[in-house]
Amino acid sequence: MTTPDLTAFPRVRLGHWPTPLERCDRLSAELGGPRIWIKRDDCTGLAAGGNKTRKLEYLLGRALAEGHHTVVTFGAVQSNHARQTAAACARLGLRCELLLTRSVPRSDELYETSGNVLLDGLLGARVRIVDDADDIAAALEEIGPAYVIPPGGSNAVGALGYVGAALELLTQIQPPPETARPDQGAGPQEQEATRLESKVGPAGAVDRVVVATSTAGTAAGLAVGLAEAGSAAQVEAVAVYRPAEETRAVVEELTAETARLLGVPVPEDRVTVHGDWLGPGYGVVTPEMSEAVRLFARTEGVLLDPVYSGKAAAALVGLVRAGRIGADETVVFWHTGGLPGLFVYPDAFVG
Ligand SMILES: *Cc1c(COP(=O)(O)O)cnc(C)c1O
Repeated sequence: MTTPDLTAFPRVRLGHWPTPLERCDRLSAELGGPRIWIKRDDCTGLAAGGNKTRKLEYLLGRALAEGHHTVVTFGAVQSNHARQTAAACARLGLRCELLLTRSVPRSDELYETSGNVLLDGLLGARVRIVDDADDIAAALEEIGPAYVIPPGGSNAVGALGYVGAALELLTQIQPPPETARPDQGAGPQEQEATRLESKVGPAGAVDRVVVATSTAGTAAGLAVGLAEAGSAAQVEAVAVYRPAEETRAVVEELTAETARLLGVPVPEDRVTVHGDWLGPGYGVVTPEMSEAVRLFARTEGVLLDPVYSGKAAAALVGLVRAGRIGADETVVFWHTGGLPGLFVYPDAFVG
């Protein structure tokens, strides 16, 4: 497998790597379906974890290399990206300014004071709620010189984190069960040996990666990384922020930009965008999401979130039940984090 050269880009270490890759046998059995693995990027180790940690390693690596002292970023009131940026800035001694928008149709006290936004303040970030472009311009003026990170940390620099993540996954994935079932009958030492062997094993044992997609840096980085590593895995990107067509355009543009930044070919037909699990909109509960969050919790003890990973999980469940993911496939569900968001949606999970 070839490896794109990520070492040319400044990076600051913020997470615990590699994040675990776990088999979900009970979930697979429950669905009567594919071999499901879960990539635990909810366990990145930075203030409740999540997918923004990988992007921030490159974004803040660059901010430090350029000598910045202040970081500005944007998000929804319950932005996981804002919370992880706040944590990373605290750790690096940077001033963190968060410009948050009411992009979910809620204004209740729980939504506006708990979950991620509670943690933003705790982590020492300054939170400003902005309503429009004028508010943003005024805030930026007042803040002064700063390293500005786009929403979701999604530009080509941030997406490099997920190019690296794709390579990380491919070094972890076990050979198909016909060749080895390391966790059946093997002792811990043999398991470890198999795991090390698999690091040089054939890439491409994964058929699909299922992941929630909003600002697209995660899907774009994965697409470039998987393609460069010679894996055949398809990225099933589940739109959770805007409809499929718009999401597809954003994914394609950022995939191309990321490939250009790395100086590698732009991958073609690598990402399928699914729009059927968005429901009425961003941050709005759907019955499929609630069911999937319960299913993961009760079969695997894994906590998803209502806005992102829960809708991606609903897509995984729906695609398996519809036979669009075959029972003989190997699927990696990429857990992107979002735990604090669970606590601002209590009504979706009663009973
Ligand atoms: C931001 C986020 C995503 C989406 O990632 P993008 O790179 O913005 O597409 C998915 N899940 C969670 C929990 C997130 O916070």
